[in-house]
Amino acid sequence: MPDLKHTSVMYLKGVGPARAKLLQSELGITTYHDLLYNFPFRYIDRSVIHHVNEIGPQLEGVDVQFRGRFVTLTLAGEGRRIRLQGLFSDGTGTLEVVWFRNVHRLKDFYQTGVEYLLFGRPTVFGNHYNIVHPEVDKVVPGASQPQGLLGVYSLTEKMRKRNFTSRALQKIVATMMASVAVRSLPETLPAEVMARYKLMPLGEALVSMHTPATLADAQRAQLRFKFEELFFLQLNIIRYIKGDSRRLKGLPMPHVGEWFNRFYKEVLRFPLTGAQKRVIKEMREDMRSGRQMNRLLQGDVGSGKTIVAFMTMLIAIGNGYQACLMAPTEILASQHLETLQSLADSIGVRVALLTGSTRKRRRDEIHRQLLSGELNILIGTHALIEDTVQFRNLGLAVIDEQHRFGVAQRARLWKKNDHAAPHVLVMTATPIPRTLAMTVYGDLDVSVVDELPPGRKPVSTVIRYQNQHNEVYRFVGKQIAEGRQAYFVYPLIEENEKFEWRALEEGYDIIRETFPQYRVAYVHGRLKPEEKDYQMGLFASGQAQILVATTVIEVGVNVPNASVMVIENAERFGLSQLHQLRGRVGRGADKSYCVLMTKYELSSDTRHRLKVMTDTNDGFVVAEEDMKLRGPGDMEGTQQSGVAFNLKVANLARDGQVVQMARDAATDFLAHDPDLSSPEGQRMDARLHEIFNKQVDWGRIS
Ligand code: ADP
Ligand code: MG
Repeated sequence: MPDLKHTSVMYLKGVGPARAKLLQSELGITTYHDLLYNFPFRYIDRSVIHHVNEIGPQLEGVDVQFRGRFVTLTLAGEGRRIRLQGLFSDGTGTLEVVWFRNVHRLKDFYQTGVEYLLFGRPTVFGNHYNIVHPEVDKVVPGASQPQGLLGVYSLTEKMRKRNFTSRALQKIVATMMASVAVRSLPETLPAEVMARYKLMPLGEALVSMHTPATLADAQRAQLRFKFEELFFLQLNIIRYIKGDSRRLKGLPMPHVGEWFNRFYKEVLRFPLTGAQKRVIKEMREDMRSGRQMNRLLQGDVGSGKTIVAFMTMLIAIGNGYQACLMAPTEILASQHLETLQSLADSIGVRVALLTGSTRKRRRDEIHRQLLSGELNILIGTHALIEDTVQFRNLGLAVIDEQHRFGVAQRARLWKKNDHAAPHVLVMTATPIPRTLAMTVYGDLDVSVVDELPPGRKPVSTVIRYQNQHNEVYRFVGKQIAEGRQAYFVYPLIEENEKFEWRALEEGYDIIRETFPQYRVAYVHGRLKPEEKDYQMGLFASGQAQILVATTVIEVGVNVPNASVMVIENAERFGLSQLHQLRGRVGRGADKSYCVLMTKYELSSDTRHRLKVMTDTNDGFVVAEEDMKLRGPGDMEGTQQSGVAFNLKVANLARDGQVVQMARDAATDFLAHDPDLSSPEGQRMDARLHEIFNKQVDWGRIS
């Protein structure tokens, strides 16, 4: 058998130098192995021959096969618009067929009166059915026709232009498969995993991917490859967690401690929600387990994560350690200080803020107090992970809004304590779909605050078009007349986009003219911090009834009296960002509203995105939809997370169950063979190297 990884596809029948070059540049295929692992993305059924008069809604949009003859074949149009049109008849009816590419060649190739098998997807065009670019095979008496399921491969535009069709690729794959004993290729997954999950063996699965006997076979084969891909991904992640013994050993925190108890009994103004209690308990267990806590705390905007994080810090302090809280921006860090300062003061816990703009003298003082242990909690930005910042005994690091921190940055925190890594709690207000969390944040345990504090009400969300502004202003006016406040938000995605600035400035002017009787505050990222604080203050205190703002208000601002948010050019925002923004209302008023202003013409994706917002208030649902729409690779967090994200077969948005299966399998496998030292373990180890060598091995970043 040829060595699959070192045999070029060039000499396969039907390839040759020109196509070999295309295969390489367009699909990255150079060897037999590449070709074998270039799977079809769907299948077409060639076992049934339909009649033209059967076409109806049930056959619309699916690939079907007809047998008949061309009655006419004519060129129409001119120049670049030239096309080949055929009228195809099978005796039961006629069908129009159109080609836009290679028309001259095809015109000579196909003939009227000759019997063909026509294969394609009928669609309604005008008042008749039509197939664009069907596959056509001559019916040769006595010869066997293509049968059963055929794979459809993805092609690029360049390949299509050169008439390199999916059909051509099928034939090349078939030729290759005939020359190698695919079925006897050695299995890549552990035998016990194969048996437990009843997976299709490698050889059979490869054959079934390309030429399945039934659709069920194709699905079983797909499942096997999805599983395999995710299994190795999980094996890599989990092996890393287990492999780092330093991370295994955690700082012992056996007590709840007096700070926690005092805060709980004397200071906390409200009862914790059930979810908050549960999550605190989960973290308490981690912290006293003797192992290092690495936990992701997820919860929707306003679910009360900050209090939970603070109480966790009190546990660390109660056991004689210090804690830090790291936020991605200075604004967020200062807001955290504001929230926590008074809580901390009331029980005598000492907090300080350290950011890039902290003055040298203050900075020196903080450094000193950290080393002496006078400071209990340090809040800050990236400045916290600089090497000059040294703690006396850091026991817990809380990271807010994780998705803007990379794994590498998180890892630097572990070095802040000599004898053992501090416990790490990562908070994110952008809920992450579970499957994504398991892969991207696979090294973290997950806690979810899935309950909102009492008093928070769903926000009714509607879409309005640009020509409905007056109606929206009237509505906002009514709310303000009832004593409420309103936000107007403008996209400022590219800080330097002139167009966006103009929209914001014009919007501000119009709103002031429309509401002359009210005060309008105005904040954006270019204001000086004092000015921003002043403007925010006007709105927070109720002196201003309207706040015109950019997304700087996305995080943190809490004005319970605000009942309306109007988001201008909402189509320009991502789903999770819209959800974050919307979280600013519905914090107190009886009924709150979010109005998404958009232009009238929207792509169907955008329309769907906005509809998700009107349909649900649940951040996890929004996140799932976001992932389906954008794909996991584009979700916030995946890019920066350091995980090379190129799943080929599996899809995190759809294959949640397989992710779980693969994770369980990988966990079990490592439980029995933590060092991958058994013969099978060594095989897995070699495979991991093969797969992850070229990619960022994020497990090793620290
Ligand atoms: P998150 O950080 O999850 O967005 P916060 O911790 O900022 O949420 O909490 C949002 C608001 O709800 C804060 O004003 C906080 O004081 C309040 N809050 C938190 N937990 C509760 C609770 N159990 N009952 C009532 N209010 C709460
Ligand atoms: Mg928060």
